[in-house]
Amino acid sequence: MNRPGRTHGHQVGCDRCARHVAARYSILEQHVCNACYSRLRRHPGRCPECDQVKVLAFYDSIRRIVCATCAGVPPRFACITCGSEEQLTGSQCGTCRLTERLRDVLADEGGGIHPGLATLYDHLLTARDPRAVVRWLRKEPVGVTLRAMSADELPISHSTLDALPLSPRVRYLRRMLISAGTLPAIDVLLHDLERHATAFIADLPREHGAVTAQYFHWELLRKIRQRSANRAMTPSSYSTRSTELRKIADFLAWLETNGLSMASLDQASVDRFFAHHHSQAAVGTFLNWAIRQGLTNPVQIPGRKPAPPRPPVPDDILWAKVDQLVDDESIPLGSRLIGLLVLVFAQRISDCVRLRRSDVTDDETMRIALGRTPLTLPIPIAALLRHHLEELSTRRPYLDGGPDWLFPGATPHCHVSEASVALHLVPHKIHAREIQQARIDHLVQTVPASVVADMLGININTAVRHAARTNSRWGNYPELRASPTGE
Ligand SMILES: [Zn+2]
Ligand SMILES: [Zn+2]
Ligand SMILES: [Zn+2]
Repeated sequence: MNRPGRTHGHQVGCDRCARHVAARYSILEQHVCNACYSRLRRHPGRCPECDQVKVLAFYDSIRRIVCATCAGVPPRFACITCGSEEQLTGSQCGTCRLTERLRDVLADEGGGIHPGLATLYDHLLTARDPRAVVRWLRKEPVGVTLRAMSADELPISHSTLDALPLSPRVRYLRRMLISAGTLPAIDVLLHDLERHATAFIADLPREHGAVTAQYFHWELLRKIRQRSANRAMTPSSYSTRSTELRKIADFLAWLETNGLSMASLDQASVDRFFAHHHSQAAVGTFLNWAIRQGLTNPVQIPGRKPAPPRPPVPDDILWAKVDQLVDDESIPLGSRLIGLLVLVFAQRISDCVRLRRSDVTDDETMRIALGRTPLTLPIPIAALLRHHLEELSTRRPYLDGGPDWLFPGATPHCHVSEASVALHLVPHKIHAREIQQARIDHLVQTVPASVVADMLGININTAVRHAARTNSRWGNYPELRASPTGE
C-alpha cells in the first residue's frame, strides 16, 4: 500500500518507534502511531524527485521515498490554502495559519489590516517559524491588546502598554512593536525602570516616597540618562537600579524604626547603620546627595571596605576549563563560545554579547574582530563557531532588518543577555571577571602589556597561527599557555 491512510481493525504496535500503541496510520508500508505520524508531518524534507520541501512518505515506481505528487497520489499533507507542505499545523501551513490569525487580530472596522499595524503584520510574517507567532498571539495580554488597538479601542502607542502590568511578556510585545516600526524606538528597560520606580515609590510611606522620588528623578535618572545616551540600559543595570531604590527605602524605614529622621541624622547613627548593614554603597551615594541638598546634616559616610584580594587562578585550571567548554555539549553553544572568548582572549562577557556576525570572517582560517586586529581562532573554537553559525541560519526567528547579532537573544533585535550567559557559565565555576583578570595576568607574562592592553593584538594572533600550524589542540600553545615561570 503506497498511500498513507488509516488502517482499521486490530491494534498493532508502531513499526517506527516500536511502542505498543495504536498504529492507526500506514506509511511506507509500515504501521505508524499518531506521534510518529505527526513527527513526519512536522519534518518535511527535500524531495529527491522535484527538489521541493515536502512531506516524504511515499514510494515512487523505483522505490525512492518521494512526495505525494511525485508518487502520483493526491497530496494529502498539503496546506488546504496554498498547497505548501512546510511547517504544517492542522490543515494549513504555518504561513497561511499565521496570515489568517493576523487578519483576524489586526483587522480594523472595514476588515482590512489596520493601517497603524500594517508594519507589524509584515514584520510578523517574516518569522522563520510562523507557528511560534501564532502561539504568541494566543498569550495574554498580547492578542487582546493588539485586537483592541486594531479596533481603535486603545491607541497604538506606548501609553497603551504602560497601562498593562510590568512583565517580561509586555516588554517583549513592546520590543516587537518597536522592531516592526509600529511604535517609535525607546530605551525599553529605562522606560520600564521609570514605571517600576513610580509604582515602587507610590507604595512607600508618604515622606519616604517624596524624598526617594526626588532622588530618583533628579539624581539617579539624570545620571542614568547621561550614561545610556549611546547604549541601551542593560538588564543588569536595571536590576542594580531597582535594588538601589529598595535599599534606600529600607534605610528610610530603619531611620523611622530607630526614632530618627533625615533632618535629625547624626554621625553615630550613620556609623551604627553602616556597621550593621552590608553592601550599602547605594545608601552612601544617596546620603551624600541628601547632604548636598541640605536635607540632612553633613555626616561622614564610612568608606567601603576593600574586597579581599582574590587568589590567582592557576594556568592549568584555566586550560582545564577551556577543554571543558570545547567538549561539554550540555552547555548552550553560544555560552560555550562566549566562555571560550573569555578564557582564551580575556574578553568581557558584555563585549562578547555585542559581537556581530560581520565581526567574523571565515576564509581558510576563521577570524574574529575582538579589537583592532582580527584574531585567528584556534581550530577547536573555529569549529564550534562554524557550528554555531550553521545553527543560527536555521534558528533565527525573524529574518528582516535588525542588527546581525552573533549571539541573538530570545527578544527580537536584542543580543543574548550577559546575565543568561553568566548563568550558564557559573555552574562550571567560570566567573568571567575573575578569569579575565587571571588571563590578562598570564598574558602580560609573555607579551608586552601594551599589546595586551591594545585589545589582544598581534602577538596572540601569531601564537594562535603558530599553534594552528602544528595542528595541535591546546598542548603546543607556548605563548598562550605560558605559566609565570615560562615553559
Ligand atoms: Zn510510533
Ligand atoms: Zn516531489
Ligand atoms: Zn499554506
